Amino acid sequence: MPGVPGTVYLVGGGPGDPGFMTLRAATLLASADVVCHDRLSPIEGLDLVPEGAEIVMVGKRYAEVGMTRAAVDALMADRAASGKVVVRLKGGDPYVFGRGGEEAESLRLAGIPFEVVHGVTSAIAAPGSAGIPVTHRGVAAGFAVITGHEDPNKPAGHIDYTTLGRFPGTLLFLMGVNHLRDITRNLLDHGKAPDLPVALVRWGSTPRQEVLRGTLATIADEVERVGFSSPAVTVVGDVAGLGDVLDWRSRRPLEGVSVLVPRTRQQASALSMRIRTLGGAPVEAPTITVEDGDVAGLRRRLRNMALGAYQGVCLTSPNGARAVAAALDAEGLDARAFAPSGIIACVGPGTEAALYEELRIRADLLPETFTSEGLAAVFPAPTSDDDRPVLLPRADIATPMLADGLLAMGHRIDAVDAYVTGRPDALDPDVVARLADGGIDLIAFASSSTVRNFVALMGDRPWSGKVVSIGPVTSATCRELGLEVAVEADPHDLNGLTAALIAAAGRD
Ligand code: SAH
Repeated sequence: MPGVPGTVYLVGGGPGDPGFMTLRAATLLASADVVCHDRLSPIEGLDLVPEGAEIVMVGKRYAEVGMTRAAVDALMADRAASGKVVVRLKGGDPYVFGRGGEEAESLRLAGIPFEVVHGVTSAIAAPGSAGIPVTHRGVAAGFAVITGHEDPNKPAGHIDYTTLGRFPGTLLFLMGVNHLRDITRNLLDHGKAPDLPVALVRWGSTPRQEVLRGTLATIADEVERVGFSSPAVTVVGDVAGLGDVLDWRSRRPLEGVSVLVPRTRQQASALSMRIRTLGGAPVEAPTITVEDGDVAGLRRRLRNMALGAYQGVCLTSPNGARAVAAALDAEGLDARAFAPSGIIACVGPGTEAALYEELRIRADLLPETFTSEGLAAVFPAPTSDDDRPVLLPRADIATPMLADGLLAMGHRIDAVDAYVTGRPDALDPDVVARLADGGIDLIAFASSSTVRNFVALMGDRPWSGKVVSIGPVTSATCRELGLEVAVEADPHDLNGLTAALIAAAGRD
């Protein structure tokens, strides 16, 4: 808004798992004009940022585009002064070694309004993600969070090891991996026991999480031996020796499994979210594009539908349901247009969910097996007092099985291309590289067209990964193209596909 000074939001993005971002962080990202983020803030947060917003990467890792802190401060002040919503996204909590305080001071000096949105600090969440609680009844009654960045040999060092040596709880060092030998030596010199458990948790809460365990006497050697590097939280105390009872992350059924999701961007998100919840790492690679089909034809048929031209409507994909909703809207019609039709049938729960979401219409009929054939099998036979045709708003590449089935029963049908599918020009080169070097464990095919497009887009480049298919039709296409199907989903929907992924990962 012109004339109103914009605000800079210093936002904690949490330890890395996007699920640990706060609701406030998500809301602000979704309305940001400018986002400055660094390498420890969750990259998935950027998916929420509106298209066209300015995204600036800050910090050492991005040296090629790197900006000094002063330059970042100046940029934020400039954008905010012109009334923009500026989000400075940081890892963890902005006030835990995040320099959030300093940035806030600069903003105050510049007269720019700011707000702080706290986040889940890695000091607590990284150990927790490895099954280490920072306090535990009878084991640790408190914790201290300490910077490990300071060189303990410098006289100006602020860390008071005499006090830490006597501290009766868990010690959590951030940024301490490179100084670990000095830290452990100082703790030992100041009274901590050599057999005190120590754990390092690297990239805690993310799919890259790694844990290294030892004692105060051994851990520095261990870190060197395996080349353990930052970012990691170092936990010193008895809680680090509690074993793995509280480790829920590595018990998740898809923990550490990378799954290629070759659907449209819109469809991918639902499956990706499930994969992430189960501990897996979804890799989205759109292999299909969805564009307008015969819009005029669809609109004309929907006008007629509202006048009672059809005895039923069969929807065979979420895209179809969405295209119908959009065309109805364009006609100035709404859900009531379906009322004169006898039966509204959907091929499966995903399609029904889209229909419900778009138009608040529930399906009358869902097949037992979620395929076109299954739908034809349960669709009622024509009766002598209703010879109106059945409307099929479908994809340009729809299988003929539903239409054939209905025709065989004696129905008349009226099919229209509700949408047309296409193939993107190429796959993301990063994805191609991961497929080539074994970086993808599973590939989740949810339709024949994604199989065909994937194979065409890969060409003769090598790839590996177990193939999981949503159902028999998709599996048949896989086999036709020489792909071996590891597991086929049953039921043939998102639930079934998720279960099939778990089975293919071999962890069920
Ligand atoms: N404000 C941040 C800390 C910034 S300092 C917070 O509250 O978490 C950067 C240090 O944080 C790193 O050197 C590392 O010690 C720690 N850190 C941040 N994210 C981490 C993660 N996912 N796993 C382990 N350590 C992490």
